[in-house]
Amino acid sequence: MSTLYIIATPIGNLKDITHRAIETLKSADMIACEDTRTSSVLLQHYQIDKPLFSFHQHNEHHKVAHILNILNGGQTVAIISDAGMPGISDPGFLAIRAAHQNGHTVCAIPGPDAITTAVVASGLPCDRFTFEGFLPPKKGRQTRIKAIADSEITTVVYESPHKLIRFLRMLNDFCGDERWICVARELTKKFEEVRRGKLAEVLADFQARPAIKGEIVVVVAGKEYSE
Ligand code: SAM
Repeated sequence: MSTLYIIATPIGNLKDITHRAIETLKSADMIACEDTRTSSVLLQHYQIDKPLFSFHQHNEHHKVAHILNILNGGQTVAIISDAGMPGISDPGFLAIRAAHQNGHTVCAIPGPDAITTAVVASGLPCDRFTFEGFLPPKKGRQTRIKAIADSEITTVVYESPHKLIRFLRMLNDFCGDERWICVARELTKKFEEVRRGKLAEVLADFQARPAIKGEIVVVVAGKEYSE
């Protein structure tokens, strides 16, 4: 029996990594990376030199068997993704479940993720919240947005920059102009921005921009919230 480590890595700023994450990456036998080129930047920065293999959404099913083989042979595997916590809108879940089902130990090393960083930075209520991840592009999208509009508590959504305006417009249709939201962009990075306010006002601000770039989390307050 062996151990599968799930290790949170920075969501932008390379300094956002724990001592334990570095120690564990240095001691693991193999590291499974979402993109080996992306992770090499981090690993080289911390002088971590270990055998890597790719583990991403297109080979996840096939690579779970590979991970189990390594664990069954008594070696440890550490899973990292391009950013944040593996398994959170990233590959990880299938391998974690398989490791448990096969009697291995699963050890998650906490650290950065975009959800908690955004919801805390938003200044919107963070005592309870729902995480929606990425909304489906077509089928089911409207139902999920309606549920966000009806929610009593804060909702956190991951969105890509080129779909932000479309999403905020649709949200506006269901939530109205007065709903409090926050668009958290490029968290922990040089051009970090936390833009909060009423939906119509935040939408108008982003609509007026010539381009919207970077990684984005949208935080939507519950329907009764006002300030
Ligand atoms: N595993 C990651 C986590 O723990 O948050 C999430 C990975 S998901 C593929 C990538 C999405 O997370 C981005 O599209 C964006 O919505 C959000 N995200 C990641 N890094 C971010 C950052 N620095 N600022 C804002 N949002 C970020």
